[in-house]
Amino acid sequence: MSHRIKIVQCWDDGVEDDLRLCEILRAFGAQATFNLNAGLHLPGAGEAWRFRDTKEVRRLGREQLVATYEGFEIANHTLTHPSANKLSTTEWTREVVEGRARLEDLFGREVVGFAYPYGHCPPHAAEVVRETGHRYARTCANATPSFPAADPMLLAADCHFLNAGFWELYEKAKSVRAPAFYFWGHSYELCSESDWLGFEEMLRRFENDPDAEWGSLSGLFE
Ligand SMILES: [Zn+2]
Repeated sequence: MSHRIKIVQCWDDGVEDDLRLCEILRAFGAQATFNLNAGLHLPGAGEAWRFRDTKEVRRLGREQLVATYEGFEIANHTLTHPSANKLSTTEWTREVVEGRARLEDLFGREVVGFAYPYGHCPPHAAEVVRETGHRYARTCANATPSFPAADPMLLAADCHFLNAGFWELYEKAKSVRAPAFYFWGHSYELCSESDWLGFEEMLRRFENDPDAEWGSLSGLFE
């Protein structure tokens, strides 16, 4: 039986560029997980900041979320995106529990995934995530193959989507018959038209690979 590698991806922070990203993903039939901070999506347009001094990035408004992410997986990225290194266990627990509960309320479905803000994951923080209904939690570490994970609460991705060695890592994951190849990023890192076209090119390359199929992250933890 031939082995197909699942192409799994997740995107963080719930920004306006996700609108375009989701359209592209839908056109390719690709699955993806979006890591959201339920406490930072205000009514109307969300909080704004600058990326590389040139691009204004804005979080989606709260009322945009359900329609934007329809058909995609939602995961918890804490309530307000703090670093776990800076909070007491009590404060961190509230961020994790409340973040998940608000997403479940808003989307009307179970949330089982988690991503650590800034990738910060001290042991006490990972234990809280483990004990509060999450099946996996992503760090910002790289590991190929990324699956199976030694500890699902310290899940590394294969790489960031702009990693210079992206396709070598993909070939490596295929060569060891990994169940999945997993990359992550922020859609606001796509700044120019050529960046967006490059991303579509990336998806097309997966689409045209007979050894690959789209997969969902939570599906790997069932
Ligand atoms: Zn983030």
